[in-house]
Amino acid sequence: MSYEPKSIETKWQKRWEEEQAFEPSRDQSLPKKYILSMFPYPSGRIHMGHVRNYAIGDALARYWRKQGVNVLHPIGWDAFGMPAENAAIKHGLHPKKWTYENIDYMRKELSALGLSFSKEREFATCDPLYTRWEQEFIIRMFEAGLLYRENSTVNWCETCHTVLANEQVEEGCCWRCDNPVVQREMPGYYIDIVRYAQELLDDLEQLEGKWPSQVLTMQRNWIGRSQGLQFRFELNDASKAKLHGCFDGYDVFTTRPDTIFGVTYSALAPEHPIVKHLIEHKLLDDEIIQRIQAMINMSERERSQAEKEGYPLGISVIHPLTGEDIPVWTANFVLASYGGGAVMAVPAHDERDYEFAQKYDLPIKRVIEGGELPYTGDGVLVESGVFTGKPNREAMKEIIAFFEAEGLGSSQINYKLRNWGISRQRYWGAPIPLVHCERCGLVPEKLENLPVTLPDDVEITGEGNPLEKHPTWKHCACPQCGGPAVRETDTMDTFIQSSWYQFRYATHPSKWETTGIDKEDSAYWMPVDQYIGGIEHAILHLLYARFFTKALRDLGYHDIDEPFSRLLTQGMVLKDGAKMSKSKGNTVDPDAIVERYGADTARLFILFAAPPQKELEWKDSGVEGAFRFLKKLYSRKEKVTHSVLPEIEHDALAPKGKEARAKVYEALRKSKDVFEKTFAFNTLIAATMEALNALDKQDDPSVWSEGMYILLHLLEPIVPHIASELSEELFGRKNLREMIPLKEEVFVTESVTYAVSINGKRRTEVAVPADADNETIAAIAREAGARWLEGQQIVKEIVVPGKLVNFVVKPA
Ligand SMILES: [Zn+2]
Ligand SMILES: [Zn+2]
Repeated sequence: MSYEPKSIETKWQKRWEEEQAFEPSRDQSLPKKYILSMFPYPSGRIHMGHVRNYAIGDALARYWRKQGVNVLHPIGWDAFGMPAENAAIKHGLHPKKWTYENIDYMRKELSALGLSFSKEREFATCDPLYTRWEQEFIIRMFEAGLLYRENSTVNWCETCHTVLANEQVEEGCCWRCDNPVVQREMPGYYIDIVRYAQELLDDLEQLEGKWPSQVLTMQRNWIGRSQGLQFRFELNDASKAKLHGCFDGYDVFTTRPDTIFGVTYSALAPEHPIVKHLIEHKLLDDEIIQRIQAMINMSERERSQAEKEGYPLGISVIHPLTGEDIPVWTANFVLASYGGGAVMAVPAHDERDYEFAQKYDLPIKRVIEGGELPYTGDGVLVESGVFTGKPNREAMKEIIAFFEAEGLGSSQINYKLRNWGISRQRYWGAPIPLVHCERCGLVPEKLENLPVTLPDDVEITGEGNPLEKHPTWKHCACPQCGGPAVRETDTMDTFIQSSWYQFRYATHPSKWETTGIDKEDSAYWMPVDQYIGGIEHAILHLLYARFFTKALRDLGYHDIDEPFSRLLTQGMVLKDGAKMSKSKGNTVDPDAIVERYGADTARLFILFAAPPQKELEWKDSGVEGAFRFLKKLYSRKEKVTHSVLPEIEHDALAPKGKEARAKVYEALRKSKDVFEKTFAFNTLIAATMEALNALDKQDDPSVWSEGMYILLHLLEPIVPHIASELSEELFGRKNLREMIPLKEEVFVTESVTYAVSINGKRRTEVAVPADADNETIAAIAREAGARWLEGQQIVKEIVVPGKLVNFVVKPA
């Protein structure tokens, strides 16, 4: 019978389902592996990127299971988010219905790929039971002061009608819809991720060598730690008076305190409270006020790309060391979100400050000797009071010490990382479980009232927040005083859900009703041993999940420091050189491939076409090739005569039989490294293909039986259906349940006979190991020809591989 993937695959998928073959054991004395591929968003259909992501994870899960290791390999659905609402607006479908229908459909698609997921641990993050615990975490964070409400300038996407976190703004544009982000002032909820900045930075060290270095670098840069001096610029008396006594000064932060004697002006962000005050009280010209308003309305990106622009504010501060008056400007390059929105400007030693000073004809004062201005290198200080003549690095420390001793300022560590804005003005998300009461203020909902669920009867139009507009939902009793109160209508950023799902899987489902994260189960399963997902999550999801892990640890939910021990970032799937996308029309539908060739072919191709970390170019011919290999593998079952691993006397075999065995065992030897270290499945698959070719060149039935026994064992994690089918028929699947030991005698290489010649005259022969290098061959030949070489000087040695060694000699 020929290879019919459909019937084989249906049969095995049914069998696995009946046997509940992939549920982990509850025996926590067993060695464990937690293999996790990032869970999908239920957008409607799976794409090739999913197939790749899950084929990699599945191969690892199946490999470890075969070693007798207790494997947790779960799947779930990252199910809140905007596309559900967009579908509602476009097609009038309720987001809940749309989401759960998509999940049902995609679950079938994934199961048609034969992925060995635990079924009992599956959940969707929009399940009320998941929300229940998430809301509890949010309340705990609120009580711990880790979550707070604040009025501030936020990133606002006009297209998505919602706020975005800094991490979700990519080059000034919305990460989802790619439209420019604008700045808006509004109240919102923030999580104090900056409190964990140092730990998030320090713990990257333990991930060194286990996470791609590129991801570690991106996280380091995003956290952006810098050390410097924070000090206060005091306003002079005239300026204080001008500002109606509302301000006496402001703080600035600098990483270059060594240049402080070169300060010639100071600049404030256009959003700075002092600038605001000047505008509100019309203390600036109308025209300037208009220009400043225009700067405020620009996104950070536009501002960073725009030409430097600024205006004098007609006020001055006092230089803390020289007592000189320093003019204050507002400038578009000063960002409100960094260092308090105020800077000291040293045009001689800072490119940005220099450009600005040039444009507005501000004084430039050199205080470090060195090259052309602006000079940003090291050197000796000049015109710097008592610090003159010192190397700038040394002076930096001394100046900080001086400020501290005089009570003028202090050494300060600053981070670029901003607190995580989690408010979204959308319907399809987890409600923030807080209540506004006129008497009690902002109070958390009582735990026994959780989850706060979404109302089903909403009208989703894309305009405004449906929860805000709902006639009754937001009205409730105050959890504290019982009086009339109003629920918060903001929902949570969906990145909250994916920040802790790894702990939810680890918690046994029998405990899901009574606990969010089980400590004991977490201690056993966590951290995830191998995490697999796209590089696009390098900052967003991976930083949030690391933060959540630490925050929930400190709130007493578990004892884990880092969620993901190892990370593999898989490359994209391309077609015709570009990322597959519907808009480009270059997608390949996984369902169609499975329908035509079977899941095993799809999995084999995707793991064979490139190493997982690299981009993969889709090739129809490659799929055909994968299919042909499986057909051939299937047909060779007829060669098998033994139902157990046969005993073979290696030396008695014909050379082709020996070669075939060597190839088979070479693949086996390679497999450990591939599954445990390199994940270079492509090289393992190539080795099994070579082995099958070598088996074809001989006809010893024992060698065939042994070869198939081992090759099916090796291929099972990659092509589980065909491997299970043949293994059952031929070996009662015994080959899939045991570790197969390497046989060293197989690797003893044959020897090759070399002629030994002296000055072209053949003198003798010698046997040389087939894998010896030229140097070894020459050495063996020298020894064999010793009696002819005596008293001669060797001028040249010529090794003709596989044939002879010739010595050119002359009398010594
Ligand atoms: Zn958007
Ligand atoms: Zn109250």
